Amino acid sequence: MLSLANKGLLVVLSGPSGVGKGTVCSFLKSMNPGINFSISATTREARAQEQNGVNYYFLSKDEFINKIDRNEFLEWAEVYGNFYGTPKAVVEEQLVQGKDVLLEIDIQGACKVKESYPEGVFIFLLPPSKEELRKRILGRAADSPETIKKRLSCVDEELAAINNYHYVVVNDRVEQAADKVTAIIKAEKCRLSRNQDMLLNRRRSIID
Ligand code: 5GP
Repeated sequence: MLSLANKGLLVVLSGPSGVGKGTVCSFLKSMNPGINFSISATTREARAQEQNGVNYYFLSKDEFINKIDRNEFLEWAEVYGNFYGTPKAVVEEQLVQGKDVLLEIDIQGACKVKESYPEGVFIFLLPPSKEELRKRILGRAADSPETIKKRLSCVDEELAAINNYHYVVVNDRVEQAADKVTAIIKAEKCRLSRNQDMLLNRRRSIID
């Protein structure tokens, strides 16, 4: 297991399908230019406007399975009939270099990351209400009726996973939600346990 003490911060932003993780992330990108946003791999079809290597790495099922076999994912999960995974090497390299990394992943993936990286910061994005979440899922023109049905059927189970997280942010107004996530990241970076090297150097420079 990679120890994250004095390394970059690993932030996991997760929550039910349709809660608006992607939109909040778009705001976070402009508000936090210093944070690296991990690019996931997926077997789902690219949507219009999506670019390989920018939004996702779009892989065939065989390519994805080969990567699972080679242990190249930090976590992976089957989400609504497609595979999604976080490439391990690039994330670990950035963390070791002291860079902060944000993963925008589903709830199963977040659970797996928490097992191997308990020092990460786990943020659950909550919809303002269950009814609003249903409306958002039903309004996603990009999804097939079958995918919409799958997403709706998972809502209760997904909401029940909240106790596995450190923070909850309600995505009522997207800018406010992004502000709150930014505040959480700032506070986490000030944690004593994450600043041991800096403190040691300060003490030395005061004594010398
Ligand atoms: P979408 O197909 O709408 O882009 O994403 C579907 C779901 O997959 C979303 O909940 C999204 O957060 C999740 N997802 C995206 N990338 C990853 C990943 O690398 N790992 C996991 N576990 N979930 C992901």
